[in-house]
Amino acid sequence: MSTSLKTVPVARPVLDGREVSAVSRVVLSGWVTQGPEVAAFESEFADLVGAPYACAVSNCTTALHLALLALGVSPGDEVITASHSFIATANAIRYCAATPVFVDIEAQGFNIDPALVEQAITTKTKAILCVHQLGMPCDLKTIVEIGRRHSIPVIEDAACAIGSEILWDGRWEKIGKPHGDIACFSFHPRKVVTTGDGGMLTTANPEYDREFRLWRQHGMSVADTVRHSSAKVIYESYPEIGYNYRLTDLQAAIGREQLQKLPAIIARRRQIAAEYTARLQEIPGVETPAEPDWARSNWQSYCLTLPADCDQRQVMQDLLDRGVSTRRGIMNSHLEAAYGDPTSFRQGSSLVRSEHAQCGSIILPLFTQMAEDDISQVVDALHACLGSTPVMHAAAQ
Ligand SMILES: *Cc1c(COP(=O)(O)O)cnc(C)c1O
Repeated sequence: MSTSLKTVPVARPVLDGREVSAVSRVVLSGWVTQGPEVAAFESEFADLVGAPYACAVSNCTTALHLALLALGVSPGDEVITASHSFIATANAIRYCAATPVFVDIEAQGFNIDPALVEQAITTKTKAILCVHQLGMPCDLKTIVEIGRRHSIPVIEDAACAIGSEILWDGRWEKIGKPHGDIACFSFHPRKVVTTGDGGMLTTANPEYDREFRLWRQHGMSVADTVRHSSAKVIYESYPEIGYNYRLTDLQAAIGREQLQKLPAIIARRRQIAAEYTARLQEIPGVETPAEPDWARSNWQSYCLTLPADCDQRQVMQDLLDRGVSTRRGIMNSHLEAAYGDPTSFRQGSSLVRSEHAQCGSIILPLFTQMAEDDISQVVDALHACLGSTPVMHAAAQ
């Protein structure tokens, strides 16, 4: 019996013949790196999130780097952020030779605590880098107000949050409008839509957008597309140091197909999350993730808090033995050797909640193509591992 057990993966991108045709169209066009597809992807992305400007880059880590540079983050500056995030969030600050100031997450959920952000502000604070962790919007309204009060700009690490929404002045708006000064997105395959690798910066500030476009392309004064189509000879110049942070047209063509699928992807993810919550909350001691009234998650990840004194690794192994792949809770950058040098960051508050979330929670499989059988396999395995009998449910609606 157990030989036929298939393992339910944690994530799976939604890719099919549409992406294949899009890529072959671009291959055959003869223009494969940053060009017309990137421009079209940017404008479709801007429309989707309601942003005045969107600039595509190679990934979200490079997006974060450019966002910090645009705000003038320089050696010796401080940037307040969460340690409880993928390490790229903090690393981008260190690329600027600035100091990440880590503050803890809230008591409920996995997002940065605005009260601790405000307490960590010093004269060196150059920016606040908040994270919409796991696709769940953080308390952005409070963070933006704190930023305004102290004249400190806010960058949103929206790597996981494409399609997530926040109630803003009485209206539901997409993350990335942006509500802070700049928002950064990722199209890594572990996120909700993918281009293989890829990233996007959104802003309402034309000067920031101009800088992103310059810096992603070696600081070169003339875009390739302009030079290519010009009837006159053009010499480019390099007014400042830039980077090669380009997205390719091959990737952008995939991204455009993915954006078409986004509404259906999110609708299905929200259904699966709701089903998990309904079927898991009766397990004694577990805490299911919940949306505040002002947030709608895209459910990039479903992170379950285990009963206290549960051995995370053992639970994960037991689940894997039952054909259910999981991941541990979100990492803490300050616990990694890359942050072993005490001068590499400043601790802006206690980080006990962050640490507890890393070792006391697990991420469950959640992907658009999950069948009812897959969901039941996960739910039944969790009930078996955590020692409660699943309540019989009518067939899932
Ligand atoms: C995935 C992720 C990143 C990095 O995105 P890449 O596109 O892989 O560079 C940054 N921050 C958070 C919160 C992430 O989840």
